[in-house]
Amino acid sequence: MLTKPTKVNVMGTEIRVEFRKEAEDPKLKGLSGYYDCTENLIVVKIFEPDAYALGNLEVLQKGCLRHEIIHAFLFESGVEACSNPPDAWATNEEMVDWFAIQSPKIFKAFQEVGAF
Ligand SMILES: [Zn+2]
Repeated sequence: MLTKPTKVNVMGTEIRVEFRKEAEDPKLKGLSGYYDCTENLIVVKIFEPDAYALGNLEVLQKGCLRHEIIHAFLFESGVEACSNPPDAWATNEEMVDWFAIQSPKIFKAFQEVGAF
């Protein structure tokens, strides 16, 4: 389980990454994590093992972390704030999840063919 705070550089902005239990942070209620653009902060939930019938909850945390980092990239690149209405592509959760889930595979494919 990821628990150690860290930082990530998103387009020149330093974003703090913290891992919290839901009991420590009421904003996590019903969420796996969130990105707060006003505080340059990503919070990922420390899942309670007993609440899930899954063996490796760190996989969920990493997927959530990638998801929130994609949100941060969209915000920092300026497209999130200007995408109206609220279900526009830059705020669309399905699109954010697609990038969060597929990006490791895309980067691996880039590396395989020297496309970086
Ligand atoms: Zn989201």
